[in-house]
Amino acid sequence: MSEEQPRTEKRFHGVGVSPGIARGTIFVHRTDDEEPPVRRIGDAELPGEIARLEAALIATRAQILEMQERIAEAIGAKDAGIFDAHLLVVEDRTLIDEVLRTLARDKTNVEHVFQQVANRYSKTLSEIDDPYLRERALDIHDVARRVIHNLMGKSTKPLSSIDTVHILVSHNLTPSDTAQLNRHLALGFATDVGSKTSHTAIMARSLNIPAVVGLHNVSEVLQTGDHVLLDGYNGLLILNPNDQTLWEYGELEVKKSQVEEKLTELRETASTTVDGRHVILSANMELPDEIEFVLKSGAEGVGLYRTEFFYLNKSELPDEEEQYENYKKVAEQLMPNSVIIRTLDLGGDKFMSALDLPEELNPFLGWRAIRFCLEKIDIFKVQLRAILRASSLGNIRLMYPMVSGVDELRRANAVLDECKTELNNEGIPFNENMEIGAMIEVPSAALTADILAREVDFFSIGTNDLIQYSIAVDRVNERISHLYEPTHPAIIRLIKTVIDAAHAHNLWVGICGEMAGEVTLTPLLIGLGVDELSTGAALVPRVKRAVQSLDIGICLQLVDEVMRLESPSEILARCEEIAKSHYPELLN
Ligand code: PEP
Ligand code: MG
Repeated sequence: MSEEQPRTEKRFHGVGVSPGIARGTIFVHRTDDEEPPVRRIGDAELPGEIARLEAALIATRAQILEMQERIAEAIGAKDAGIFDAHLLVVEDRTLIDEVLRTLARDKTNVEHVFQQVANRYSKTLSEIDDPYLRERALDIHDVARRVIHNLMGKSTKPLSSIDTVHILVSHNLTPSDTAQLNRHLALGFATDVGSKTSHTAIMARSLNIPAVVGLHNVSEVLQTGDHVLLDGYNGLLILNPNDQTLWEYGELEVKKSQVEEKLTELRETASTTVDGRHVILSANMELPDEIEFVLKSGAEGVGLYRTEFFYLNKSELPDEEEQYENYKKVAEQLMPNSVIIRTLDLGGDKFMSALDLPEELNPFLGWRAIRFCLEKIDIFKVQLRAILRASSLGNIRLMYPMVSGVDELRRANAVLDECKTELNNEGIPFNENMEIGAMIEVPSAALTADILAREVDFFSIGTNDLIQYSIAVDRVNERISHLYEPTHPAIIRLIKTVIDAAHAHNLWVGICGEMAGEVTLTPLLIGLGVDELSTGAALVPRVKRAVQSLDIGICLQLVDEVMRLESPSEILARCEEIAKSHYPELLN
């Protein structure tokens, strides 16, 4: 009988993107397109690697046969015949012998060797000008994926089918993965890569579960079933936490829950500064069932309703009726507060499974959001008609994402007018005076805010993208996350330009990027004159507490000082001083 290994505590450091603490066993989710790791092996390990390869080939063969049977039952034997070619690949002696030779020569793990050899084979075949051989190259590619999958013991389970309580560990999670998480079973998640403003992180905050990203290679090092503690406050994943650690975290949880309890008492209070300036405090929503949290948070409505969820993990586009019902339900639940529905903001790190779009070299700068909608007018009109119909409730506003200039905005409004005419002709009611807004998240829009102001009723500043585009720093790339600085003087000047232009044209301005939920920056944003802050529901009480602790004089003075400071770190330090002196309990 083998002796049980002593379980030593091990700490992995990353970036906390959603606060909270979770404890439990992990589920390691691995995706098909992950590269197998490379590992050198000794001579003594060779027989074991060969045995693993044989087992993986047998398992692959059984899976292909099973799939063939299923397909034959469902659509007929003829179509199932395509798997004959796949079976030939697992039995291909030339391929297998080459793998065995390379394994003995290179002495690296067999999944790596198999991938190298299979890639070489399929590349050679795909370069020959013969359609039959090109097909065979695809077969090899498919089968190789399956063999490697079996060698690595990867999970093929979709995330939604995990049926036990777990902390999810993965190399990366896409927004569609995150949307599949079962919020009752997923206690938190940890990933190797990622950043604070990626949509995956935003989604974690809206699901209200702790999350840590940028943990380098935890998904390779940890195994399903390992016991961990996840600290979303400090960006830590602790494997096998010892008694002392568990005790310390127990204490921390008590302290945090006391602060949270105090904050919930603020629910019915107004978001007003000490000297009576009301800053509208709204919540952002990514998924319809978040409405519960929004209502509990004490937010004054929804300042950004992201509508991409309609398209994630779906094989078909949402129709007008489905969208209408959804918008109407959300608006009814929020009464008498309002909801700002943002039209489809596809692209960047938000991929849509229902729209089979071409890959782009620069997806964040590509065919996305309003640019996409203005070309796919049919898809755009379905959404606009649904929003207009729901608008007859009276508490709905609409805004366009990624506006880069006035022509785009005018064209979007022209399509909206077309929808209004159609609805009028069909005798379908809507609110003629529904407020229309433009998101200001592209520097060209910020710098021409005075021109755009003539076309809309309000602006909502999307700082997540505004920062990425102004500083030229990819918001999801953790390598350059140190450059992603909300307190860069350029960002503060742009926000000021937008707010001043809006107020000169009697427009109100909100901020709906993640910056709106950073309590350290609340005094700065109030001083700049923002009318509304919209943030994840979980952060609403904290921001409210911050607003209630400040007075306008302090905020204006801070802006005055900040406009003369030169570097992001100096500005941040000054903001932190003010925050610390007014609400230290809110800072970690
Ligand atoms: C933003 O860019 O700040 C924003 C709110 O939009 P999203 O994060 O959905 O791109
Ligand atoms: Mg954006």
